[in-house]
Amino acid sequence: MQILIVEDEGVLRDGLLDLMRAAGHRVDEAADGLTAVKQATAVPYDLVLLDLMLPTLDGIEVCRRIRLARPFLPILMLTARGSEDDVVLGLGVGADDYVTKPFGAKELLARVEALGRRAKTVPGGPEAIQAGEWRFDLGHCLGQKGKKRIALTARETGILRCLYQQRARAVSRSELLEQVWGARADMETRTVDMTIANLRQKIERDPGNPKIVVTVKGVGYAWGEP
Ligand code: CA
Repeated sequence: MQILIVEDEGVLRDGLLDLMRAAGHRVDEAADGLTAVKQATAVPYDLVLLDLMLPTLDGIEVCRRIRLARPFLPILMLTARGSEDDVVLGLGVGADDYVTKPFGAKELLARVEALGRRAKTVPGGPEAIQAGEWRFDLGHCLGQKGKKRIALTARETGILRCLYQQRARAVSRSELLEQVWGARADMETRTVDMTIANLRQKIERDPGNPKIVVTVKGVGYAWGEP
């Protein structure tokens, strides 16, 4: 893969460069936010590793700007422990996944591989779903309602696919974690709630009273047949 590493701390950045190179990836580096946006929109990267605390432009804003220009480029955020608000913001502006510092080399590489692989393959199942006025193009992570078009993240698309395929029943948070994120012991089911909250902001007329992705108390979530 061709990877852009965005990290302002030199020692950590060098460590990430070495690690990704040793795993056979081609890597570029950026040490501040503005440079990162410029590079990520000019070069066809397969993945961006994005630190959140950056000079000139913070990681949230970098993520938002990259996402506007490159809707399908996988973005993996590097966050500090205890910065849950940042994670919520980051997922809200289109990051695909996050890793909490300090992280192990093995863990980070596994995430990078999983995200890169997922971005390339189009999983099985329906290619498009009709939900009320919405048409969701799963292969391209797009939603269309009339003339309005929105970009969905890979995880948001995965949730729609998963709930739709099992629309006869409710799906638990841990099932969604396993099917959409891939089984990972360290992940909290709260991640599912955060991603669904962001998805509802994009597709529900009233996110407080959702009709497409509905909550099933005590179980999890279900396809709402809007
Ligand atoms: Ca930093």
